[in-house]
Amino acid sequence: MELRELGRTGLKLSSVGFGASPLGNVFGSVSEEQANASVRIAFQSGINFFDTSPYYGGTLSEKVLGKALKALNVPRSEYIVATKCGRYKEGFDFSAERVTRSVDESLERLQLDYVDILQCHDIEFGSLDQIVNETIPALQKLKEAGKTRFIGITGLPLEVFTYVLDRVPPGTLDVILSYCHHSINDSTLEDIVPYLKSKGVGIISASPLAMGLLTEAGPPEWHPASPELKSACRAAATYCKENGKNVSKLAMQYSLLNKEITSVLVGMRSVEQVEENVAAARELAASGIDEAALSEVRTILKPVKNQSWPSGIQQS
Ligand code: NAD
Repeated sequence: MELRELGRTGLKLSSVGFGASPLGNVFGSVSEEQANASVRIAFQSGINFFDTSPYYGGTLSEKVLGKALKALNVPRSEYIVATKCGRYKEGFDFSAERVTRSVDESLERLQLDYVDILQCHDIEFGSLDQIVNETIPALQKLKEAGKTRFIGITGLPLEVFTYVLDRVPPGTLDVILSYCHHSINDSTLEDIVPYLKSKGVGIISASPLAMGLLTEAGPPEWHPASPELKSACRAAATYCKENGKNVSKLAMQYSLLNKEITSVLVGMRSVEQVEENVAAARELAASGIDEAALSEVRTILKPVKNQSWPSGIQQS
């Protein structure tokens, strides 16, 4: 598995990252055995980066991931764990007091002494000025206290990254996590990669399968995409299936193409999915992407290209 450097952190992340939201039963129920086996096979296949949040499954994902990592019985330095703060089943709270308490709760659930990356989760739902003036300084203190090695922010609208990065001193943030903006249907993250690099932050891109849109099984009930976007993605999946291709493999490979993006976080809930995504990465390295299938899928998705959905609150 290819390792890529994350900004200025010195961390080397596997290009395929393990998104642990499915371990919180977010995409349907996953047994503990299934979770343990998925994490184990991922680690054995060279995946060293695991991402979770207290929000996924109302803390379940952190607990299940913590157990599965412990069961690996390998030195802590061999895997990289990211979690988040500020978003909970009960709602959002980006106050310094809450995020400071949050990391201790996460460490307990994960059974760890520190996390590698702590991120403010979906900052468009909070006041961005509070994020700049209160939350990020609190995270910096947690970094100084050794509870996290690096800090970052996550969100859907790309403008939140530029808003915050333009207002914090250089070097304050180590990483940004963007999602659903670097897939075949929406590649707008690429537009701000030069800006992000100029700010020295590492870039993680999540949801290469557009949270299930680019899968044969289709998205979960709660998926926020418009009916038009869902139907175009369904047509792309059908095209692939009818032509002996796999839309998820193509989507995974597409997301891995841009090496400025350190890790592509894909949500995985079974050994089979881990094996498929690892194989997609290996095949890409060995023989490149299927350009003909990519071109057909791009044509099918053209009418909905870069279509997203609203997320967050109106900033005053
Ligand atoms: P995704 O695009 O990775 O899709 C996940 C879905 O695809 C799940 O249903 C999964 O079971 C399925 N899947 C995975 N591999 C497959 C394969 N080979 N074939 C068919 N289906 C497959 O979306 P995601 O899980 O939402 O995102 C990945 C991870 O990124 C999350 O688990 C989370 O860790 C992170 N993330 C973070 C944020 C944030 O911080 N705001 C937002 C979204 C995602």
